[in-house]
Amino acid sequence: MNALVLFDIDKTLLVSKLRPSTQRMAFSIAIKEVYGIDTHVDLVDHRGMTDQQILIEVLKLHGFSDSEIKGGLLKCMQRMGEFFNENVRSGEFEVLGGVRELLKTLQREGTMLGLVTGNLKPIAKRKLEGVNLWSYFKVGAFGSDSPNRADLVRLAVERAKEEGFKPGKIFVVGDTIRDVEAAKNSGVRNIKTIAVATGDCSPEDLRKAGADFVFEDLEDINKVLGAMSR
Ligand SMILES: [Mg+2]
Repeated sequence: MNALVLFDIDKTLLVSKLRPSTQRMAFSIAIKEVYGIDTHVDLVDHRGMTDQQILIEVLKLHGFSDSEIKGGLLKCMQRMGEFFNENVRSGEFEVLGGVRELLKTLQREGTMLGLVTGNLKPIAKRKLEGVNLWSYFKVGAFGSDSPNRADLVRLAVERAKEEGFKPGKIFVVGDTIRDVEAAKNSGVRNIKTIAVATGDCSPEDLRKAGADFVFEDLEDINKVLGAMSR
């Protein structure tokens, strides 16, 4: 199938079994080191937000100006990545049902696989390497590339074209309203969205957001492959 399928990571491909997750701790530790305040990500509704956007929104709530935020942002993202890589434990992440089989099948069919994730690149890479999924993805756009998720969709498609993807079907697979909206606002033509209710959004929310296909999960890969072949 001449197609490009762009996957979100958290709660689409895998979930963290730790509470709080290492990534969540990384936010608080990095912000403390770079901006000097104690805080946490739950100040904002971060479902489907990019990590960079979460940092910006949290800091704004604490009264930091745009220029103050910008001044420390790169350092803060770098510290997050370092903290994550130093502290993540093997076994923290659990791959969701159907995911391995779906990726394997799509790859066998010659579909190009990519990532569109709010995770900073070093965090995304480490998570997926830890569960032996990183090598499936030929291209990706990450929360370290832009705070804006729609930018990431555009960027991933551009990178896929550079890697030889010829115009064809493009799908975004994700678990939140923001994944769906990002695809719709990306300006990429003929892009379709496949939403899975394995995260914190209900099938009804995802449908209302305009997802082209909504599934409870990715367990039944034939249903998912069927949606892609239509
Ligand atoms: Mg997600």
